[in-house]
Amino acid sequence: MHRITLGNTYFEGENDAYLFTGAETALVDTGIATADTREQLADGLAEHGVEFADIDAIFLTHYHADHAGLAAEIQDESGATVHAHAEDAALIAGDDDAWDDLETRQRAAFEAWGMPEDEQEVLETYMQAGVDHHTAGAEVETFADGDRFDLGEVTLEVVYTPGHTAGLSSFALPERNDVLTGDALLPVYTPNVGGADVRVGRPLQRYLDTLTRVADAEFDRAWPGHRDPIDDPTARAEEIIHHHEERAHRVLQALDDLGPADAWAVSADLFGELDGIHILHGPGEASAHLDHLTREGDVERDDGRYSLPDETRDRLQAHDGESWPL
Ligand SMILES: [Zn+2]
Ligand SMILES: [Zn+2]
Repeated sequence: MHRITLGNTYFEGENDAYLFTGAETALVDTGIATADTREQLADGLAEHGVEFADIDAIFLTHYHADHAGLAAEIQDESGATVHAHAEDAALIAGDDDAWDDLETRQRAAFEAWGMPEDEQEVLETYMQAGVDHHTAGAEVETFADGDRFDLGEVTLEVVYTPGHTAGLSSFALPERNDVLTGDALLPVYTPNVGGADVRVGRPLQRYLDTLTRVADAEFDRAWPGHRDPIDDPTARAEEIIHHHEERAHRVLQALDDLGPADAWAVSADLFGELDGIHILHGPGEASAHLDHLTREGDVERDDGRYSLPDETRDRLQAHDGESWPL
C-alpha cells in the first residue's frame, strides 16, 4: 500500500489517497477535482508506475468532494469500478434528486439552528464551490458493512463507520490489522458531526458508536483521509470520545450562561465568530450535542430553543471536572 499525499486548500486540507498495486490496481479515495490535485495524484501514481488508465477499482470512504471528487474522471479514463456505501452512493453518482434533497435538508437545518440569513448566504456561496469541485456522475457499485474485496496484495474489508456522513465507511486490512478510516478517525483535529452531513439522524450517537467500534477493534494503525497515520487508533478513538464529553459539558455551561438559546447562539458561545465551512460545522456540531442531550433528558427543547431543566442545573453545579458522560 502506498500513501499519496494531496494538497487541498478546501475543507480540512491535506488529503490522503491510498494506492494498492497487487493483482488489482486500486485506490482508496481520490482527492478533490481540481487541476492541482489531479496533477498531484497523477504524479503520486507515476512514482509507482501507475497511470489513471491502469486503475481497476476505486473505493470511496464517503461522498465529500475532497475524497470522491476525482472518481468520475478517473473512471472515465480507466473504466474503473467505483465502490461506495449505499447511503452516499447517489451523491457520488451526481444524482440530481439526491443533491436537491441534501440542499433542502440543509436549508431546513439552517433555519432550525437559527442561522441568520446573511450567514446562510455566505455559506451557500462557499458550499457551491464544494459542489463545483465534484465531478458529477461516477457510476457506483454499492457495498455494505462486512463486504470483502480481494485485491491480491491485500483484502479490504468494509467497516461501516457513520456519523460524519451517513455512508462513511472505513476499510480494514485484516492481514496487517490496519484500517483506512477516511474522516471517521483523524489525527490532530476531530471530524465534524452534525454539519458535515445533515442527513444523519442522531449524528453524535452514531459517531460515538463508530468510535467505540473502532476502539474495540484494536487496530495496530489507522490510515486517515487527512494527514499522518495514527499509531494507536484505540487511544485516538477514546480521546475523541473524551473530547465530545468535554464539549457536552461546555454546551451545558453555555446554556447555563445564556438561558434558553438556539444552536446558533450556543455555537457562537463555544466557537465565537465563524467563517467559510465552519459556519456550517460550528452550529451543526452544537446542534448534534443539543439534540443528543435532549434525548438523554439533560436538556429541554421548546420552539427551537434549548434550556436546562433545574435538575441538570443542579447536577452541573455539583459536578466536578470539565466533562459530561455521554
Ligand atoms: Zn468528510
Ligand atoms: Zn475530509
